[in-house]
Amino acid sequence: MSRKKTEETAGRGAGADAGQPDLFGGAPGAAPAEKSRPGEDKAVPAGPASLAFSFSKLSMYEECPLKYKFRYIDKLPEKPKPYFAFGNSVHAALEFFHDPSHGEVPPLEKFLSVFREEWEARDWRAKGYAEPSRSDADYQSGLKMLTGYYRKHHAAFAPPFLVEYSTDVEVDGLLVRIIADKIEHAGGGELILIDYKTGKDVRRSPDQLHMYQKICELDPALREKLSERYAVSASSLKVRELRFYHVPTLKEYSFARADDFAIGLFWERVLRASGGVKEKKFPPRPGDFQCRFCDFRSSCPVHAGESVRAPDGLDGLAAEYEESRARAEALKIKLVAALKALPSGAAHAGPYSLTLKKGPRWTFKDREAVIALLREHGCYDRACAPLLSKVAELVDDETLPEEFRRSLRLLAEPGDSADVEVRRRGA
Ligand code: SF4
Repeated sequence: MSRKKTEETAGRGAGADAGQPDLFGGAPGAAPAEKSRPGEDKAVPAGPASLAFSFSKLSMYEECPLKYKFRYIDKLPEKPKPYFAFGNSVHAALEFFHDPSHGEVPPLEKFLSVFREEWEARDWRAKGYAEPSRSDADYQSGLKMLTGYYRKHHAAFAPPFLVEYSTDVEVDGLLVRIIADKIEHAGGGELILIDYKTGKDVRRSPDQLHMYQKICELDPALREKLSERYAVSASSLKVRELRFYHVPTLKEYSFARADDFAIGLFWERVLRASGGVKEKKFPPRPGDFQCRFCDFRSSCPVHAGESVRAPDGLDGLAAEYEESRARAEALKIKLVAALKALPSGAAHAGPYSLTLKKGPRWTFKDREAVIALLREHGCYDRACAPLLSKVAELVDDETLPEEFRRSLRLLAEPGDSADVEVRRRGA
């Protein structure tokens, strides 16, 4: 039941949905012999010049054409991404749960075991985790998430029209692939398309769903299935609604059917991007976001001469460190504000004792004048106790007599120290 072959294996990329698995993919369906809609969208038999395209490819080309070339033309290897592993395992379980062949709702244990089997198919390194504890944490979070899903939906279980419906449709010289996570029949040939999301970001634009709508309504194989299953006229197929279902929060985000104008604008973007691919236009489009998460940075001329490719997982650790530091700063500001509001400036909170440390803040502008004043009043040594770091600097200062430096070294215990500087590139 699991999504063994995804658009990744058939040419899928992360695209604009970085941080979440893209839910297009899967084995190609039968390419239609003809389209049943009139006008410019009329389907034609698949031709040798057709370019295989998808929403993921559109996203990646728009993000950076050179990245697209590295990924889809040169087929450079990508690092495994934990969020893909997580998303694919959750999807495998949801696909099982909603399998239309089930006469009744499957037991919770079986539902969770599908997730477990998919998860355990690869170890934490193969899934792209930096350490096993993070893989374990995601596993536990997946079990919790799916248990919540089951509790919310099992009572109203009803087999949908289709799950993981994949198809390739020939249109405008493109062979466009989609995989719809779930399709429900709302009656009279009208369909509701549902796409499951498992990442943190729930703010979505309906672009991806525009692709679903366009392709589903052009797909003769889907018409045939609809007509067979519900005995409705094949020509009545119409997408009524599109939904993103955010599994972590069990919330749905609905989009009404897009009008022709919106679909037309979206399709212009598809034709522009696919035109660029056909014309072999792959200029780099550097940017903080896309370059930061780009697997092809070491091959990219924009970043030539930079440090060697980092080991797997290092980018995740650096991002986590940076986020933690920023979060700690933000929390400190909140704590100071909360304590300032208390007359005593102190509080006991659970196991913690919190005290606001207040004091005057002075800024001295004329350093030399301050030092002269300190000397004049015999306070210089009192204010300027030697700092370890400054004394250590003297050991390596070649402008000082070697004998002095040797004597200093003899007074020290040698050892190693290590620290790390983490900063955003270009910052
Ligand atoms: S490093 Fe940046 S500019 Fe280079 S291919 Fe990747 S995304 Fe494009």
